Amino acid sequence: MDDLLAADAAAFGRAAHDDLDAARAALARFKALPPETGALELLSALDQIGRAGDRSAGLSSLFFQAHPDPAMREAAGAISREQSAFSTELSLDSDVHARLAALSADALPDDDARRLLEHALRDFRRAGVQLPHEPRERVRELRAELVQLGQTFGSTIAGDVRSIQLDSADELNGLPDDYRAAHAPDADGTIRISTDPPDFIPFLKYATHRARRIELQRVAASRATPDNLPVLDRLLAARHELAGLLGFDSWAAYVTEDKMIRTEQAAGEFVARVSALAAPRAEAEAAEMLACLREQYGSDAEMRDGDRLYLQERLRASKYGFDTRDARPYLGFNAVLGGVFDVITQLYGVEVLERPEIVCWHADVRAFDLVEEGSPVARFFLDMHSRPDKYKHAAMFHLTTDGLPRAALVCNLPRPDGDDPGLLDPSQVKTLFHEFGHLLHHLFAGGQRWHAFAGIATEWDFVEVPSQLFEEWGRSPDVLPRFARHHASGEPMPAELIARMNRAESCGRGLDVRLQMLYASYSLECFRRDPASFDTGALMAELKPQFSPCPVEDGTAFQASFGHLDGYSALYYTYMWSLTLAKDCAAAFGDDLLDPAPARAWRQRVLSQGGRRDADDLLHDFLGRAPDLTAFGAWLDG
Ligand SMILES: [Zn+2]
Repeated sequence: MDDLLAADAAAFGRAAHDDLDAARAALARFKALPPETGALELLSALDQIGRAGDRSAGLSSLFFQAHPDPAMREAAGAISREQSAFSTELSLDSDVHARLAALSADALPDDDARRLLEHALRDFRRAGVQLPHEPRERVRELRAELVQLGQTFGSTIAGDVRSIQLDSADELNGLPDDYRAAHAPDADGTIRISTDPPDFIPFLKYATHRARRIELQRVAASRATPDNLPVLDRLLAARHELAGLLGFDSWAAYVTEDKMIRTEQAAGEFVARVSALAAPRAEAEAAEMLACLREQYGSDAEMRDGDRLYLQERLRASKYGFDTRDARPYLGFNAVLGGVFDVITQLYGVEVLERPEIVCWHADVRAFDLVEEGSPVARFFLDMHSRPDKYKHAAMFHLTTDGLPRAALVCNLPRPDGDDPGLLDPSQVKTLFHEFGHLLHHLFAGGQRWHAFAGIATEWDFVEVPSQLFEEWGRSPDVLPRFARHHASGEPMPAELIARMNRAESCGRGLDVRLQMLYASYSLECFRRDPASFDTGALMAELKPQFSPCPVEDGTAFQASFGHLDGYSALYYTYMWSLTLAKDCAAAFGDDLLDPAPARAWRQRVLSQGGRRDADDLLHDFLGRAPDLTAFGAWLDG
């Protein structure tokens, strides 16, 4: 598939259509199998249908989000819709279902094959294959509409970068020198600060000009308004109707059924439990922040969303003597990336080798192989820096699982340029390790006997465990000095600075956890209530006071740019759910994070299993017991 990495829209379109034709041909072969065909042969023929799309399905999603050519983004979006339509068609194919339903699990040779059959039948049921003709047609329509709605929702967010104008360089007070240098006034003396993360986040953290911070935060929370509000309403209504047709009370009930959490009630209880665990700490932090705010801005100031990151930084400095800017000179982009590679080699015994001859979709993108015992075992692509019309967050895109597993990381990290090493914040280091956690999961889980189990084919609410676990290596005092070296002096990051940084990192943790629970609760409530019964803005006004000390800002509609409402729908809780599990697993690595023994067990017992077993069983296998909240509770109190 590497020849498609730099293809133009027409060539990519042809290849993707060839793959769709191959999938249709595989479906036809399945249906043509004679009645006496053995169970295993039938399952293999089923698995081939998914395999046929392996080459282009991931790429169309990547190109739709990150390709520089608008014609390609459009073509890739259209192809994604066709691929989705084919999946829907297959999931509602009653002939295929009938053939599988007639099989006996006892006729299958092993657990993998039995699980494959069980999951296939479950997925057919969840797709609605058992419905009479008319509702089944409606399911098909709704699924197609939802793909379109999701694309509109996402591309409206990606395309809507807003900005504020500063009147003078004084309004940049508090910001690091490299940021100030990169934001010189233009010809008419104004300075533009955009809502793109590299502009937005430092400004909210460091700018002392409070009114501008609040303004920038409000502008960011107004992105994709008003366009996305009716799109969101329709998205909620379509999912609710779909869930009803499939026999569920709500989309939240439907979408939790095949996850670790199992029910929307359990998801709600989890959100409530974590919120309660974090409440005492969050209250103390809010009081501390308010005092800090009033000391600087007057005794009648009240906390606003545009204050939170700034105050967090202030407290980090005053309470822990830590300033994020102290750490940045040690965190040049290339040094950190080299550190990630070093950790991968140390833990898993695989080398990372650049493949500069592989041409990709943009000149920024670099290709690498994971090499084990002299042979490439996986390939990945790094698209690390911002550009217009590119996906605005950080994400892993899985590309292939057959042959050499492939995946791409798309991030918006500072770009090294000449003398500028592209200095990262500790939070950006965390992001990079996080995404590499996803990447390794996908790459190590490739190449399975069954395509359906290859890659990150696990329960969705387990997906953020490997990523959040890998973050531990990006802040460990044993690991950081290996790569965090001062860009000018070459000195490794001092142990004392690392200790201060990690103590300071815990600052605001209670409020952060509660904010995450606000998003989780919002995402759950959006999809568990009847959409005819509420307004998405009023829902935020109802929920926010339960979780956050800050009011909803007038004129904002955060939900319009809350992209997870499409991709994750009711499942935003999964980040915190996964974090509780990641903390449990991190504790099992013991004191020496660079010890390859637990890492190899993690790879073998969890990552490389892909979707072969339930995540609960994988965790039990790795931990030697059922997971619990002990380590998470200790982290929350730490
Ligand atoms: Zn993630």
